[in-house]
Amino acid sequence: MKNYSIAIDGPAGAGKSTIAKLIAKKLGFIYIDTGAMYRAMGLYLSQNQISVEDEAQILDACKKVDISITFENEVQQVILNGENVTGMIRSPEASLMASNCSALKPIREKLVELQQKLAAKTSVVMDGRDIGTKVLPNANLKIYLTASSAVRAKRRYDEMVAGGQECDLVEIEAAIIDRDYRDMHRENSPLVQAEDAVLLDSSDMNIDEVVDQVIKMFQANIA
Ligand code: C5P
Repeated sequence: MKNYSIAIDGPAGAGKSTIAKLIAKKLGFIYIDTGAMYRAMGLYLSQNQISVEDEAQILDACKKVDISITFENEVQQVILNGENVTGMIRSPEASLMASNCSALKPIREKLVELQQKLAAKTSVVMDGRDIGTKVLPNANLKIYLTASSAVRAKRRYDEMVAGGQECDLVEIEAAIIDRDYRDMHRENSPLVQAEDAVLLDSSDMNIDEVVDQVIKMFQANIA
C-alpha cells in the first residue's frame, strides 16, 4: 500500500500536535511528534551535563542516544535509551534545552534520519519546524500553522492551569516569542514556511475547523 504524509510546521504553541493527532486518528495514520525527540535529546544533555558548546561530547552523545516513540492506549510515549521520559520533557526548562540543542547540526542529522525512516514505513502526520522543508520535502500536503503570540500564550496558559500548574501569562508569551526567534534565526534548518506549504492562521479558528480544512486539502491533493 502507498504511504502518505502530511507535514505540519509552525511556531511554538500553534496547536500543531493537537491538530496532527486528530488528523492522524481520522485518517488512520501514525502521528509523529518530532519536537518530543528534540526534547528527549535536550534532556539527555542536561542529565549528563553536556554543554551545547562541547562539539566532541555532542558527537559522542549522538552515538550513544537512542530515542524512540511508542504508543500506549493511543498516548505517545517517548523512550530515551530504554527509559520512558514522557513525563519529563514538557517543562519550560525542557523546551529551552530542546530549542538550544536543536540548533546543532549533528543532532539535527541524527533526528532527521530517524524521522525519515519512520515515515518510510507507514503513512504519517508529522509535526515540527523543518518537516516540509527538510524531513518530508515530498509530503502530500504541507501546512504552516500559526496564530498570534497572544493567542498561543493563552492556549498554553489554559493548558497549564487545567493541569494544576502555577504559571504567568506574560512570562509564557515572552518565552514563546524568545523560542520562536531562536528557531527562526538559527543557521541549521530554521523555521520557515516551505514554498509549497499552505498557511493556516488558527487565531480565530477552532480545532475542528482546522482539522476539517486540512483533511479536505489532503483529500484534494491525493485525488
Ligand atoms: O514542538 P516542540 O515545542 O515540542 O519543539 C521543541 C523544540 O524542538 C522547538 O522549539 C525547536 O527548537 C525544536 N524542534 C526543531 N525541529 C523540529 C521539531 C522541534 O528544531 N522538527
